[in-house]
Amino acid sequence: MLTWLKQNIKISGTYSSQTIGGIKMRKENPYETAKQQIDKSAKDAGLDEGITEWLKTPQRELTVNFPVRMDDGTTKIFTGYRVQHSMARGPCKGGIRYHPDVTLDEVRALATWMTMKTAVVGIPYGGAKGGVICNPKNMSECEIERLTRRFTNEIAIIIGPERDIPAPDVYTNPHTMAWIMDTYSNLKGHATPGVVTGKPLEIGGSLGRNEATARGCVFTIREASKNLGIDLAKATAAIQGYGNAGSIAAILLYEMGVKIIAVSDSQGGIINKEGLDPQKVMDHKKKTGSVINFPGSQNISNPDLLELECDILVPAALENVITSENAENIKAKIVGEAANGPTTPEADTILYKNNIFLIPDILCNAGGVTVSYFEWVQGLQKYFWTEDEVNDRLEKIMVDSFTNVYEISQKKKVNMREAAYILALKRIGDAIKIRGIYP
Ligand code: NAD
Repeated sequence: MLTWLKQNIKISGTYSSQTIGGIKMRKENPYETAKQQIDKSAKDAGLDEGITEWLKTPQRELTVNFPVRMDDGTTKIFTGYRVQHSMARGPCKGGIRYHPDVTLDEVRALATWMTMKTAVVGIPYGGAKGGVICNPKNMSECEIERLTRRFTNEIAIIIGPERDIPAPDVYTNPHTMAWIMDTYSNLKGHATPGVVTGKPLEIGGSLGRNEATARGCVFTIREASKNLGIDLAKATAAIQGYGNAGSIAAILLYEMGVKIIAVSDSQGGIINKEGLDPQKVMDHKKKTGSVINFPGSQNISNPDLLELECDILVPAALENVITSENAENIKAKIVGEAANGPTTPEADTILYKNNIFLIPDILCNAGGVTVSYFEWVQGLQKYFWTEDEVNDRLEKIMVDSFTNVYEISQKKKVNMREAAYILALKRIGDAIKIRGIYP
């Protein structure tokens, strides 16, 4: 325990570096990154100083410390957060992350990015995020269930279908959402499926939600390829992170003819320049717990994967993996940010200078929250759509949003991230102006 604490100690908002899965990570504070990103585009979006400051500060933050009974009979205290960044455009919306490295600043950043994301794709939500400091890989399913139910009980005072609607994020999944929905419903005395999205289909989930983040990401990569004259049937891709976002993005790109040359997870990566079959890699990961040692491939490190010669690079794990230290070595033509916050502001500048087309997280991975919105709408109407209807509506929103952002980037001669922020901040600023400041 002491060794773990020493390795992970964080001092007043900055991070000590550490190596996970071969990646040197967390030298930057993601919340500082989020604030810098807002500052960069606020003027172009027409925001005044006061509103800009407000959007750099989450509206509400809840920290909870709570006990969980472990299987061995002991009681452990866990810390969790729910941060509601903005409700200017509608109820707050954002996932819940279980990870040993969760910090309040990380959750603040992720909540801020959710506000921007829902505004970029024009869905009527604000932004929120939650996290619990824990390592689910070292916990039994029963322990994770008890942790989830107690955490839900602690944050129940601020969530709800009209207030703040959680969803899955890193190391949480539809089953986690089912436990949250059940716990919240028990507290209320009636079934309340609208309190979460990303639920299993049996309790009001939406068809297409599981694949939505990756599908949205692939739609934006397809649009970028068209603009850059890249033929996807001849393109190559490397993908970091092989969970919900990464593995499904690999499968969808593969189905479009893209050669997947490398993938990775927290334990490391694999490469085969002749191409990997992503479904078989997924089966291997299910069997062995990791993508590494996949037959017919060589193992590579996570940092080496990022610097591979390829057309498309998809970071789909955690924050701060493309930094000023490795940005000059990135050779991909398109970086599609399936993960939240994988690129630091310094790295953004370097990639733009090197003509690398970056699709920013708040656009690229917005398919997840978009289909979460569809799930919420279907649930409220008690009327469910076919998978094709979900995917068609998702495609329209992703393509329109990509086009809107791309046009701003061309017109203002800024990179795609700044363009996305200009669009988002303008929409949020307009909502705040029209609502006025209370009282
Ligand atoms: P997940 O838990 O399903 O998968 C995470 C993957 O990242 C796993 O393969 C894990 O092994 C890998 N990973 C963890 N630590 C790593 C490390 N240090 N180095 C390399 N790989 C590592 O999570 P997910 O839902 O796929 O989320 C991945 C990213 O996508 C996160 O940034 C998340 O915020 C973002 N995202 C997810 C959704 C969604 O709907 N799931 C929506 C928008 C954005």
